[in-house]
Amino acid sequence: MDSAYDDKFDTEAIAPITEACGAYYLELWHGATIAFKDMALSILPHLMTTAAKKNGRTEKIVILTATSGDTGKAALAGFADVPGTGIVVFYPKDGVSPVQKLQMVTQRGDNTCVVGIEGNFDDAQTGVKKLFTDERVRGELAAAGYVFSSANSINIGRLVPQIVYYVYSYATLLREGKIKDGDEINIVVPTGNFGNILAAYYARAMGLPVKTLICASNENRVLYDFFGTGAYDRNREFILTSSPSMDILISSNLERLIYHIAGDDADKDRELMAKLLSEGRYEITPSMREQLTMFHGGFATEEETLAEIGRVYRQAHYLIDTHTAVASAVYAAYREKTGDATPTVIASTASPFKFPRAVAQAIDVPADGDDDLALAAKLAEVTGRTLPKAVRELSSAPVRHSGICAIDGMEQAVKGFLKI
Ligand SMILES: *Cc1c(COP(=O)(O)O)cnc(C)c1O
Repeated sequence: MDSAYDDKFDTEAIAPITEACGAYYLELWHGATIAFKDMALSILPHLMTTAAKKNGRTEKIVILTATSGDTGKAALAGFADVPGTGIVVFYPKDGVSPVQKLQMVTQRGDNTCVVGIEGNFDDAQTGVKKLFTDERVRGELAAAGYVFSSANSINIGRLVPQIVYYVYSYATLLREGKIKDGDEINIVVPTGNFGNILAAYYARAMGLPVKTLICASNENRVLYDFFGTGAYDRNREFILTSSPSMDILISSNLERLIYHIAGDDADKDRELMAKLLSEGRYEITPSMREQLTMFHGGFATEEETLAEIGRVYRQAHYLIDTHTAVASAVYAAYREKTGDATPTVIASTASPFKFPRAVAQAIDVPADGDDDLALAAKLAEVTGRTLPKAVRELSSAPVRHSGICAIDGMEQAVKGFLKI
């Protein structure tokens, strides 16, 4: 724990809470890569290497990761130069922000490999899952002394550390006298792969007094539709938005929730997931739906997202990123509609400086001809904030990874890196 949550974070609080516009923003982006993925991925390598040692495993662990932008860099930062591990990251070549891409392709460490794929995040994630479950590939790896593991939220080692900060947010509000012991809170999570909000669901299941879990989507509103209708349907256009880390149509961790609401029934879960694979669609039963009453689904359009960044900045002089803005906008609409005044924690998942173009546009800072790094610097100056080190160091970092592959070239890319 001490090696995970040290001065890689730019604040001793690790996950500070800022009150603005009638909500509590739980800032999860003070780590090395300025997104919430650092919260779990700072500790995952420690958990993994300790577990391997305890279990007497001697193979080299190869971390295979698909990223919609933030997991990749956070995993690379966590695993770079960790003895006994190697890491391969696949990102959608045209589906991440310029800062996210620069962060990844400049990654140091001889055990790291970063490859852009000619497809979207769902293609990357499906490809990685295929490699994981392919007996032939696993056998070839084992023969060469390797074993696959994941840094994606399909790895429970990602979700467990995420449960902690929801409990911590409650304890903080209690300590600061904002709530009384036993009071309920709402939690709002900007959602893509359904990992972060599932961690909040687990915290609730463990006894945290949570009234409503508000699942916020961007224009890829497949989860909003799911909570509204009980039908999950990925047969729709994949939209590239200003919150790229949520541009996902197959929310991997929903599978875990489905398992629980089916009565911890793995067969039923498998049946529905098989349908998702073959038809791109499945529907849950009315009795399963009844167990979702603690969830509220909402979504924000691109326009609403930018307007929310502007509103929060004007009203509270508080700067939020595009992902957090999706959650913030969904919460504002929820509160307006329901009048629910329960104290509410919004998971703030990335630093605004990671997405400077959209944020600058939202608060009327002219972009002129600036590239994203120059724009981030300008944004810091105009808003009187310190430009995070993670962005500052990018301008001088050499590009070390330039690999691109087709969707069906992922296996070859991994083998090439491992020289097998
Ligand atoms: C990954 C990510 C999300 C979505 O989190 P999930 O656990 O995939 O639902 C939201 N915001 C940011 C900034 C992210 O990096």
